[in-house]
Amino acid sequence: MRCPFCGGEETQVKDSRPTEDNTAIRRRRICNTCGGRFTTFERVQLRELLVLKRSGRRVPFDREKLMRSVQIAVRKRPVDPDKIERMVSGIVRQLEVQAKPKSPRKPSATTSWKA
Ligand SMILES: [Zn+2]
Repeated sequence: MRCPFCGGEETQVKDSRPTEDNTAIRRRRICNTCGGRFTTFERVQLRELLVLKRSGRRVPFDREKLMRSVQIAVRKRPVDPDKIERMVSGIVRQLEVQAKPKSPRKPSATTSWKA
């Protein structure tokens, strides 16, 4: 896994454990080159989700973007971060289950988020 700070290829897993709801593995990593620390998540992906932009362009669904939007929405409110994590996982799982491949005319085929 490439370091997001310096681009170094040599990173080490320092800690690896399941998230509270057991839907993902959280890995804490450290870069051998710059010492930067970051976290990666391993999750089940049932299918590739695409977002239909207003421009008509399709881009890969970005879980982190949804996560950030939710975090912005609940900021200054006492919401447990694990609860947000579970909520986002639930939304993504529902989208993966509902999304129908190759039927662009149906609204359920893709979901558009305000970007
Ligand atoms: Zn680095």
